[in-house]
Amino acid sequence: MDFGLKGRHAVVTGGTRGIGRAITRALLEQGASVTVCHRQENAEADALRAEFASREASARLVRADVSREADARLLLERARDAFGAVDVLVNNAGIISHLPLAEMAEDEWARVVDTNLGGTYRMIRASLDGLARPASIVNITSAVAKHGMPNASHYVASKAGIIGLTRALCKELGPEGIRVNAITCGIIDDTGQANPNGEEGKRRYAGMTALGRLGEPAEVADAVLFLASDAARYVTGAVLDVDGGI
Ligand code: NDP
Repeated sequence: MDFGLKGRHAVVTGGTRGIGRAITRALLEQGASVTVCHRQENAEADALRAEFASREASARLVRADVSREADARLLLERARDAFGAVDVLVNNAGIISHLPLAEMAEDEWARVVDTNLGGTYRMIRASLDGLARPASIVNITSAVAKHGMPNASHYVASKAGIIGLTRALCKELGPEGIRVNAITCGIIDDTGQANPNGEEGKRRYAGMTALGRLGEPAEVADAVLFLASDAARYVTGAVLDVDGGI
């Protein structure tokens, strides 16, 4: 399917693994240029760098931690230097930990909220001057923001906060030609956050969906392509469920 993104420039946070990597590949396949960030040097970052080189892709990998303002600014600067104004910003980077509230120290709460919600705020703020007009921002959040989940209240609160941020900024930035939407992912297989409970847990989650299976990273990427494209030109403030009907 051609989403008409050829020649557009996208920035994807957390693109070395899981859903972010699928989004990056999908955007490249559409002919977009992509600037990707990751937090740490690891085998996944090396592999993506090698993949970019072998495809001679219009892509850059930048090490930047979205929980730091200076890194967010540096990432946007590097992106603009490489490929010019940014047409699409995908806020995908996210972390989780599993703890009951009683055992959740304040620094653990802050670490997760400041990466997921804080990182999304920081990236949008840092990008404003460098965004093309029109532009599309896609924030990756989670089905648990709507349904809840025990033992990850920091994560659930941060993901619900992203929905609020999306709705607030769609009103604030719409007049400037910037659309802001969110995707609530269900459990997506082959990712870092797929499921802490192994195969048995996956089977249980699959049974909770209307489609009877977990999602695939590429299925989230397809929804991103739609929201990034002109096919969604009258869509803003939307929260699109990609969760198999959980
Ligand atoms: P993964 O754990 O597989 O990958 C996370 C990516 O984000 C990595 O590239 C990682 O880079 C990067 N990252 C983490 N922290 C930072 C940071 N502070 N700054 C920059 N990059 C960072 O994640 P998933 O693919 O599982 O999840 C992607 C998004 O989708 C997340 O926002 C998650 O909450 C959401 N989601 C996922 C679901 C799932 O089932 N997988 C379900 C619902 C929502 P590095 O390797 O360098 O750490």
